[in-house]
Amino acid sequence: MKPEGTVRPLFEEARIAVRVGELGKEIAAASNQNVLLIAILKGSFVFSADLIRALHSAGLSPQIDFLSLSSYGEATESFGRVDIVHDISDRIAGRPVILVDDILESGRTLSFAKTMLIDRGAESVSACVLLDKKNKRKVAIEADFVGFDCPDQFVVGYGLDYAHYFRELPFIGVMETA
Ligand code: 5GP
Ligand code: MG
Repeated sequence: MKPEGTVRPLFEEARIAVRVGELGKEIAAASNQNVLLIAILKGSFVFSADLIRALHSAGLSPQIDFLSLSSYGEATESFGRVDIVHDISDRIAGRPVILVDDILESGRTLSFAKTMLIDRGAESVSACVLLDKKNKRKVAIEADFVGFDCPDQFVVGYGLDYAHYFRELPFIGVMETA
């Protein structure tokens, strides 16, 4: 059932759009044309859709594939184990890859994905996350491109969910009970 209450915006739609445009330029400046974006689903589907168009505006023509991972179930705290729900379909041996995720928290998801892609022979694996909860790291890993620092609160919207709700919100915010 959809949770009661409202979502208080932390990152407004227009602010996200500006930052995603900047990220597109930063990534394009650091990447070559053979780059493959791998979006970690489900949370990054909105972000990656905007990011790939920002990359186009910045002159890059990336390919994109999708990796569906789960570590949360319906809880708001990570279980500490990452499972592959749906694997990528592209061959990545010898290719530069950029992982795209919605939010970096403990680091377990990104660390799992990065190790997997390196094991499969990617030429390089860098990472872009929209949000970074720096104080919550359990694994030593950082993203190469970060949209915003995020407070230690559970956020929803712009692809991020609570129990599969709120992904459709055009902004990112915190749930508040009325
Ligand atoms: P990590 O593996 O770094 O602990 O967590 C990364 C994943 O946990 C993210 O891809 C995201 O799916 C989920 N996650 C972490 N923090 C939040 C949050 O505040 N809100 C939501 N909706 N998901 C989160
Ligand atoms: Mg995720």
